[in-house]
Amino acid sequence: MTMSALDVIGDDLKVALPTGEPVRFVHLDYAASAPCVEAAAAAVADLLPRYGSVHRGAGVRSQASTLAYELARDVVAEFAGAGPEDHVIFTRNTTDALNLLARALPAGTTTLLFDGEHHANLLPWPNPRRLPAEGDPVEALRAALPGLTGPAVLTITGASNVTGELWPVRELADLAHAHGVRVIVDAAQLAPHRRISLTELGADYIAFSGHKLYAPFGAGVLAGRADWLDAAEPYLLGGGASASVGDLPGDRVWSTGPARHEGGTPNLPGAVALAAVCTALAEADRDALHRHEQDLLARLREGLRSVPEAVEVSIFGPDQPRVGIVSLALPGHDPALVADRLGKEHGIGVRAGQFCAHPLVRRLTGSAVAGSCGTSGTGLLRASFGLGSRAEDVDRFVTALAAVLRS
Ligand code: PMP
Repeated sequence: MTMSALDVIGDDLKVALPTGEPVRFVHLDYAASAPCVEAAAAAVADLLPRYGSVHRGAGVRSQASTLAYELARDVVAEFAGAGPEDHVIFTRNTTDALNLLARALPAGTTTLLFDGEHHANLLPWPNPRRLPAEGDPVEALRAALPGLTGPAVLTITGASNVTGELWPVRELADLAHAHGVRVIVDAAQLAPHRRISLTELGADYIAFSGHKLYAPFGAGVLAGRADWLDAAEPYLLGGGASASVGDLPGDRVWSTGPARHEGGTPNLPGAVALAAVCTALAEADRDALHRHEQDLLARLREGLRSVPEAVEVSIFGPDQPRVGIVSLALPGHDPALVADRLGKEHGIGVRAGQFCAHPLVRRLTGSAVAGSCGTSGTGLLRASFGLGSRAEDVDRFVTALAAVLRS
């Protein structure tokens, strides 16, 4: 059977139920790491016979590898809507990209952020001013903007990794820009589901991860305005980051451009795989993919109406646009135990816990499980999906969840 670029590899993985019966594994943990698609695997397979060092050799392997790496950068730049004033830097993942940027901010920068962020977008920032992830975020930002002195940034997630809800990035960005505040978008969860573009989002910087974008080969991206990045100390000191090094300590000239922050030998297969997925997505009918995902989301929420023991949590309310992620509070049940049983007894992979967003999950469980604490108050159960997910996956999850919660 010929595969197409966005087909999921391992879509028919079988696992054995306790009875010994084999069933197709239902993967509902895309928000943690999405499966690999054919485009990414094919790009890596194609690269390997020519694979060599990037930017470091004169031989044909090195030349081909350097070319492949820089072509991957161009493709990713296009995917992220980066322009001539921007750099596209390959990193390990979103965490790495945001840490890099946090260290490149000018001295004295204030960071505005909401406490609904993933820890990767909560912890790296200097002088953080945390705004509550409840109520109207635009009003909360409006109240926080006056009186800022010196450089300031707003860093905001595109889609919550807990509830899947979209944050009003464009509105927040326009407001921030009106006060001279630069905008950073954590697109780790947005990029797999929606078009991302620096210009359309109104962002100055964007970060995302290959392993959540169907390219699990260890590359991430930071794209955005070049000026602060070129002025900052390199993120990783070493080869590539340095243009020349003298005999005395401190006698060195740093590179400019992406190389300044990509010290060491880069992850070529990761970059090439990520670019291949970007190309495949750019060529795909994104509206059709979006409709399919929204249909699955509606089916899941409809199915969950028959499981009142599970309470969907939300930051902005049930009508907020969202990607294919749903988190459930399970009053009176331990989500970790439920996830474990879904895996072992039903062949379904979901995630339980606080999803590296402790402040937000504490707040959401507190309101969904009013007054109850203990094991049930400590986390949520999350189901998330994307390319290759099927209606049958959603149905099996709903049936299995009801069975686990009732036995
Ligand atoms: N931001 C969000 C919204 C995420 O969901 C994640 C991953 N769960 C991250 C950042 C961090 O991504 P990575 O682990 O790839 O660095």
